[in-house]
Amino acid sequence: MNSENCIFCSIVKGKKLADIIYETERAIAFKDIRPKAPIHILVIPKKHIPTLNDITPDHQDLIGELFIIVKEIAKQLGIAENGYRAVFNCNQDAGQEIYHIHLHMLGGRQFSWPPG
Ligand code: AMP
Ligand code: ZN
Repeated sequence: MNSENCIFCSIVKGKKLADIIYETERAIAFKDIRPKAPIHILVIPKKHIPTLNDITPDHQDLIGELFIIVKEIAKQLGIAENGYRAVFNCNQDAGQEIYHIHLHMLGGRQFSWPPG
């Protein structure tokens, strides 16, 4: 999958609708269309990066920014104290479906560990 046929690039370009709740120069956060928890937000870089395996030292600030956004959203949504989970899935063993990196932020319920 390249940026031409990437659903998340389409959301970044405004060609596909999404419920965007947070935006910076380099990233956006929007509601997951099939939420796995009462709160399920995806935080993505605007730049097309297929998997975590494709990040380089040049992306260090960008990846850090995604976590800062998760922290801000958790505070805004009132789940920072109770807790939440922030996770990247990489490739098939982790169940990655969309090949544009996205940080899942899940909250509003108790999660088990280890994950299934
Ligand atoms: P992953 O399995 O880590 O690749 O997660 C992909 C996530 O993207 C899933 O939780 C999907 O429900 C979500 N998703 C797929 N298409 C859309 C979309 N158009 N808008 C919002 N979320 C989406
Ligand atoms: Zn993309």
